[in-house]
This record gives sequence, structure tokens and C-alpha cells, in this order.
Amino acid sequence: MLKFGKALKIVLRAAKPIETEWVVISRAHRRVLAEDVIAGNNIPYTDNSAMDGYAVNTDDLKSVPRELPVVGVVACGKSVNRRLRRCEAMAIMTGAPIPAGCDGVVPVEDTEAITSEIVRILRKIKPGKNVRYSGEDVKKGQVVLKRGTPVGAAELGMLASVGRKRARVFRKPAVAILVTGNEIIGPGERLRPGKVRDINTYSLCGLVEKFGGVPLPLGIAGDEKIKLLKKMRKGLNSDVMIISGGVSMGRFDFVREALTSLGYRERFWKVAMKPGMPISFGHIGRLPVFGLPGNPVSSMVSFLEFVRPLMMKLVGRATDLPEISAFLRTPIVKRDNRRHFLRVKLDYRNNKYFASLTGPQGSGILKSMIECDGIAVIPENAKSLKVGNRVTVQLVA
Ligand code: AMP
Ligand code: MG
Repeated sequence: MLKFGKALKIVLRAAKPIETEWVVISRAHRRVLAEDVIAGNNIPYTDNSAMDGYAVNTDDLKSVPRELPVVGVVACGKSVNRRLRRCEAMAIMTGAPIPAGCDGVVPVEDTEAITSEIVRILRKIKPGKNVRYSGEDVKKGQVVLKRGTPVGAAELGMLASVGRKRARVFRKPAVAILVTGNEIIGPGERLRPGKVRDINTYSLCGLVEKFGGVPLPLGIAGDEKIKLLKKMRKGLNSDVMIISGGVSMGRFDFVREALTSLGYRERFWKVAMKPGMPISFGHIGRLPVFGLPGNPVSSMVSFLEFVRPLMMKLVGRATDLPEISAFLRTPIVKRDNRRHFLRVKLDYRNNKYFASLTGPQGSGILKSMIECDGIAVIPENAKSLKVGNRVTVQLVA
């Protein structure tokens, strides 16, 4: 059976970044930059004071206390045109520009005002003390944010800091989601024996949004080819299509057949992984299509391991999840050659991470996804593991 690593390569191979658009920066939160952002000027623009205090020449503070005449006040928002001469001080506010001739600022706390014209400096300072130098945060011409960076709060601040009104971002990938199964009913419908409430529309839509996409739920199709085709056609204009359920070996698993009549070229069907073995991936034209297993846990895990990386690649982002190494608190039984993806809760003690399974790991136990901080990845060749063994955990929370 196809190994997980090979399957992921196949999924990512054909994917190209999608179109970009301009947005005003107030709308850029959680979008992904499609350009390198370059600073047009130094930040800070001019040398300025980090404290409220007195601008001095530190050579004048060889012995303290020292009294100096206060020859002016430098306020924020103004430029200074007078030079500070030897044996003079100027009152200066946090953020106000440093006058020429000054090489340090003595905080107010380390001074005494003798009169409004004379200050007593109580402590020495080193040259450069409490001065924020021009360009110490960012230099003119520097790339401050790289293409493929997700825009969070600090990135928004940086865009504003370099004077950007708009930013070029990737369009959000549209991900169509169709759930299948004669047994599946919507949230308003009455539960009867044999029926199962639709979980996957909701959990998959949640995952699409979490990873920066726009979910397009196509509803519930039964297991008849005609119904499947009708609903699948509605997803053909999206960037990614997911069909949940109907790709196993069951007698009513017609999803692959229906896809084929829409021109689907399947690249793989089964992957040596757990959960998520029956998974189909291919293209209709250039549209990547996933047939994910219907079991709610398998569907979420196979989304995280295949659809998420593809979505990342569409917007120029790194496809790997961040990983840590953790010590197991729960033993793991493994007797096959598949790659296992186990849901774990993490805790941190004495500089170490520990991973505990989130209860039973069956592919129908949705509870195992609740409180999950990460996915422990157990390689194909690993056997059962004991408490205290090390595992790699992908962070998904
Ligand atoms: P399938 O992949 O179609 O063979 O479905 C596998 C299992 O997942 C069956 O027990 C289905 O009832 C269940 N299942 C399929 N789709 C959903 C869904 N959207 N919500 C909840 N359970 C589902
Ligand atoms: Mg089914």
C-alpha cells in the first residue's frame, strides 16, 4: 500500500499558489501576505528618548551629583533645532527627538529639580543610555515581512509602522465540502434507528476556516450516483473539493465512480495510515479532489494531514505543522506497518513535554479530538511503545 510520505508528495506536487488581491490593512488580519514588505524608511525615523528625563552629554557627568542649567524642553511631535552645548541639559519626553550634542537621557527619577532652570543629576549614565536610535527596529530597505507570512496582530502593526495602507494577500482558498451517505441527516431532522447526524460538514468547515480558507458546504448527498453528481458539480469552481464518505469498499460506495464520470483522474486510493486508510485523491481538470473517509475522526485527521498542507501550499505557506518531541504518558499498541496519527493532550513539566492519549482512539470516537493539543506521529516501522518513550507531536491546537 502507498506510504503516507509518498501520498503527501503526490498531493502537493501539482499545487500552485492561487491568485492574490489587495486589501486595506484593517482587513488583512489572518490573511497571508503575497508580497515581501519592504520598509521605506528607518523605524524609529529619528533618534529619540526612551524615557521622560533630561538630555545630557554624558561627559558632563564625570562626578555626580552635578547641577546643570535646563536650556529647553523637547516635546513629542516637534523637531529640535537647538544644539545641546557642553554643561547644559534639556528636559525631554519619551519619544521626543534627541537634540544634537546629546548622547544620553537621565530619567526624571534620577534627578532633582532645583528651580525650573536648574536640574541636579543624581546618577551617572553611560553614553547611549535611554536613546532609541534611528533604525534600531527596522532599517530602510529591509524586508520586514516575507511573502507567505500569516498576518497576526504584530504583522498588522508592522504594516502600519512602514506606512502601508494596503497589503497584497492571497485570495482565501475556497474549499467545497460534500458529505455522503443515505444514513446522514441534518441537525434539524429527527433521529431514527439507522440514521446518523451529519458531523463532518461542521468539523470540516471548522477546519477549513481555522486554516484560512472559505468553506462551501454543498449539503448531504445520499449514496446514489445521480444525487452525488448533481451536488458535486456545484463544487467544481472551488479551489479544493472534499467528498466525505463513500470511498471505502462498501456496496454503496459510489463516490469514486461518480467522480470518474466528471473526469476525475485518481492519483491514489488507499494510504498506509491509521486512521484514514481509504482515502482517494485526484484531479478533475486542475481541481484537487479528496475523497475522505466518513468516520468523523478519520475525516478530521486526514484533513489535517493532507488537505491542510495543500491549503498552505496554495497560499505560499510552509506545509509542515510545527512539531515537538514529547515523552509518552500512555502506552501505545501497534502491530502493523502503517503510520499512526494519535490524538494527544500535552503537558509541560521540568522542561519536558509529556503526551497522554485523549482516551480511546477508534476512528468513530470523536471525543478523542476534543482536548487534543497535537497529533503524535508513530512511524511505519515503529512497534508498540511504552510509557516514557519519545514521540514526535504535531501541534494542531
Ligand atoms: P463511509 O466512509 O461512507 O463508509 O462511512 C464510514 C462511517 O462514517 C459510517 O459509520 C458513516 O455513518 C459515518 N459517517 C459518514 N459520513 C458522516 C458524517 N458526515 N457525519 C457523521 N458520520 C458520518
Ligand atoms: Mg457511506
